[in-house]
Amino acid sequence: MLVMKFGGSSLANAERLRLVADVVQARRERGPCVVLSAMGDTTNRLFAAATAARGGDRDGFARELDHVFGHAHATADLLLGEAAAVHAALQQLQQDVDTLLRGTHLLRELTARTNDAIVAHGERLSTLLMTALLRERGLPAEHVDARRLVRTDNRFGAAWPQRPVMRELAATQLLPLLADGRIVVTEGYVGATAEGATTTLGRGGSDWSAALLGEALGVDEVQIWTDVEGVLTADPRVVAEARPVPTLSPAEAAELAAFGAKVLHPATIQPAVDAGIPVTVRHSLRPDGAFTTIDPKRETTARHAVAALACRGPITVLTMTSTRMLAAAGYLSRLFAAFAELDICVDLVATAEVSVACTVEADAPLDALVARLDGLARVDISRDRAIVAAVGEGLRRTPHVLERASRALHPIVPELVSFGGNERNLSFVVRREEMAAAMQKLHGEFFTAPAVRAAHGLGGAEVGR
Ligand code: ADP
Ligand code: ASP
Ligand code: MG
Repeated sequence: MLVMKFGGSSLANAERLRLVADVVQARRERGPCVVLSAMGDTTNRLFAAATAARGGDRDGFARELDHVFGHAHATADLLLGEAAAVHAALQQLQQDVDTLLRGTHLLRELTARTNDAIVAHGERLSTLLMTALLRERGLPAEHVDARRLVRTDNRFGAAWPQRPVMRELAATQLLPLLADGRIVVTEGYVGATAEGATTTLGRGGSDWSAALLGEALGVDEVQIWTDVEGVLTADPRVVAEARPVPTLSPAEAAELAAFGAKVLHPATIQPAVDAGIPVTVRHSLRPDGAFTTIDPKRETTARHAVAALACRGPITVLTMTSTRMLAAAGYLSRLFAAFAELDICVDLVATAEVSVACTVEADAPLDALVARLDGLARVDISRDRAIVAAVGEGLRRTPHVLERASRALHPIVPELVSFGGNERNLSFVVRREEMAAAMQKLHGEFFTAPAVRAAHGLGGAEVGR
């Protein structure tokens, strides 16, 4: 068995949906469970509709809704010979979302629960169209509502999956269908509480759905189909020369996702790793092209110091200073207790004699934090910064890696450096406007072909010993 997840860009229009159906059809013998994201920018538009409704903007939410459903109807016409049943189902779905948006508009109130009920419709549109398309091709496709499979808690907007229950649900709701040779089509990103309330796993959460369902089913492989040939050595929008990485260890993949490689959701890997299932990342337009394998049973095969780079910004750097830090046992725990109380996540930390610097998300509630730390430390805030991270199991085996990276970055001077936390992530904080240049410089240092490097009088990039 196989889980195949397709992201929004792979589902953007009728032509893309056809290519996705080709890819599924070609792997039919492997018993695919197909997990779909919403088409193109549908989820963004549904978020915008909900926000407009809350703000009292009736025309605004109607416009977004008409756009989303207009596109779905038009796609159905282009895609299907006989689209009447799909049009009727789309009308019903539009009515449901419209009712939720009218309620939101009337009350000028948007709870996380209502927001989830609204935005989850994006994935329903793509599964509706794909199931109809596969059936029209004579394939035994079956839609299974993800709310019957993905059981979560009630943290709406960032729901936490209940994996043991999911295994039971997969055994009763999915396995019999797959054993019968059906191609199951279900929604990514969407789940439900035990009471049946619709939840979502957080933005980009379809990857996570795929890994969770893969674990629940015990499949041989989880395939993440997207618009790039696997995980590349850097975000191709930032570094044009980025190229596919053939294999990554799960730790490398998790680190890259957490530090901004949008190609994978940060939580994706864990369920698959726990179950020993390989995850592959593939290009839906080049099914026979290069791809990346993240195999829990294999360490990285990377011979290079760095497996790939990632970047994330804007982020904010906080520097907390107090002479009370000197030889005061437990001081840091009091400091970071304030972060925990306010639910502020810390990424990188560096400490000095009387100060601690750390990075937090740009939208962290800093006024509340500064007030809470009053009397404990003075807080200096540097906004509009970015993290640039070099990730690889090879880092720890490579001599002079920090020196090489620092030299490559010149004349950019990082404001904070973090290395050694796990020896597979070397991170720099730079100004946000320097992020792209920093990535390009590091990419040149660690990934440019040795011949080119030699011509430029640069040292080798291979692991030292
Ligand atoms: P999907 O819609 O399939 O979920 P995403 O947009 O979430 O796709 O992820 C794919 C995108 O991730 C790529 O188009 C690319 O711009 C971006 N990306 C960022 N870092 C990387 C990286 N290291 N390797 C590949 N893609 C990356
Ligand atoms: N459609 C959802 C989003 O845009 C989930 C996903 O794409 O993974 O966040
Ligand atoms: Mg994604």
